[in-house]
Amino acid sequence: MQVGILGGGVGGLSTAIALKQAGFEVSIYERHSKPIEIGAGIVCWPNASFVLEQLGVLEQVAKVSGSLTYMNRFSNDGEPIGSLNINELNRLMRYPSYSIIRKDLMSIFIQRATELDIKIHYGFEVVDLTNNTSETIAHFSNGEKLQPDIIIGAEGRMKSITRKFVNGSNQPVYQGFINWVGVYESRSAVFSELSVSDYWGIGERFGIVPVTNNKAYWAGGIVSETMDEKLPNHYKSELHAIFKDWPDLINNIIKETPQSRINKIYVHDHDPIDVWCKSNVILLGDAAHAALPTSGQGACQALEDAWHLTKCLKENIDDIPKAFTQFTALRKSKTSGMIQGGRQLASSIFNQDVEYCKNRNLASKNTNYHDTVVGMAKGWSSGLPISG
Ligand SMILES: Cc1cc2nc3c(=O)[nH]c(=O)nc-3n(C[C@H](O)[C@H](O)[C@H](O)COP(=O)(O)OP(=O)(O)OC[C@H]3O[C@@H](n4cnc5c(N)ncnc54)[C@H](O)[C@@H]3O)c2cc1C
Repeated sequence: MQVGILGGGVGGLSTAIALKQAGFEVSIYERHSKPIEIGAGIVCWPNASFVLEQLGVLEQVAKVSGSLTYMNRFSNDGEPIGSLNINELNRLMRYPSYSIIRKDLMSIFIQRATELDIKIHYGFEVVDLTNNTSETIAHFSNGEKLQPDIIIGAEGRMKSITRKFVNGSNQPVYQGFINWVGVYESRSAVFSELSVSDYWGIGERFGIVPVTNNKAYWAGGIVSETMDEKLPNHYKSELHAIFKDWPDLINNIIKETPQSRINKIYVHDHDPIDVWCKSNVILLGDAAHAALPTSGQGACQALEDAWHLTKCLKENIDDIPKAFTQFTALRKSKTSGMIQGGRQLASSIFNQDVEYCKNRNLASKNTNYHDTVVGMAKGWSSGLPISG
């Protein structure tokens, strides 16, 4: 059984590893000419750590990531407005939560793929999929063609050719806010403990996720109706202008992050779709169900897809359509929930009404975060053989 995976990101690489471990012949086709280093970081929550263990990389991940303890919320003037105990979440789900720089996670996946003799074809940008009978052909911009037994569309959220092939269109939805994301490193220790700091303003937000005591990735967000031209040499001044009255830590982080390590993203997600497959082609990861970063679960859900799709294919090796239908049924409700959850939190965090934000912060202060953790553990472990 030959499987061609379009896209070598978190979903594509993890699915290739899972399938190869299960005995499938897999190749990856990635548009970039080499592994890319862009992107900030990811929190691998316990549901993702379960999958990372199954892929044989959890130990490697643990070596280069941070073991998170708390997620602390603050108002934009630094007043504590609630604290979520990540240790408790880990205890309930019986797996750790790790913060990791995206390029480190990608390197670990690529190393594991190499160990398993998985071929990654760089410089292969899929531009079209055609289907005559039950066989689908992927066409690449370099003139090459591919016709494997199964095609997996894992090209992310913005321009997935596979999503267009399966669904008839690919229209990511701009959710009206910008995120500048970056990776900050200091010569001396800055973070006494590895807890996430999440500052909420009025239509603005700044989040900091430490990976070591002197390294963190961060995201600064603001409401924006328009998507203007991106000018990298303006990023720092844009950020300083927005966050100048916010706590010193934030302004130091912006100041000391090299411009080359800052990215500006007009944040999109997807409306959930019912059908994820057509003929011998299936979608996964962001191409199937991109959620906003406020869900905290985008990469984690792509990893869950890798595990579930492999299991469905293994159990229905002689009936691929059944495997695809089963996979979609298993994954649709959880991932749609992540999309809705991400939108709900974003609409609260990026609300621009002063009174609303005052009440929101007060509500956060009065929240019983123990109950929140119990709910998160239950929701995030659903569909997986882990406790919650
Ligand atoms: C600002 C921000 C912060 C985030 N923070 C978190 C977080 O803290 N935790 C979390 O779990 N998730 C987070 N996410 C989400 C997470 O990054 C994605 O959900 C995850 O990477 C999805 O994996 P994927 O493989 O589907 O897509 P991607 O990782 O985007 O990979 C897609 C791959 O396909 C390739 N590709 C694209 N088009 C083609 C083509 N035509 N032909 C061939 N290859 C192609 C791309 O180059 C890329 O390598 C965040 C996202 C954003 C935008």
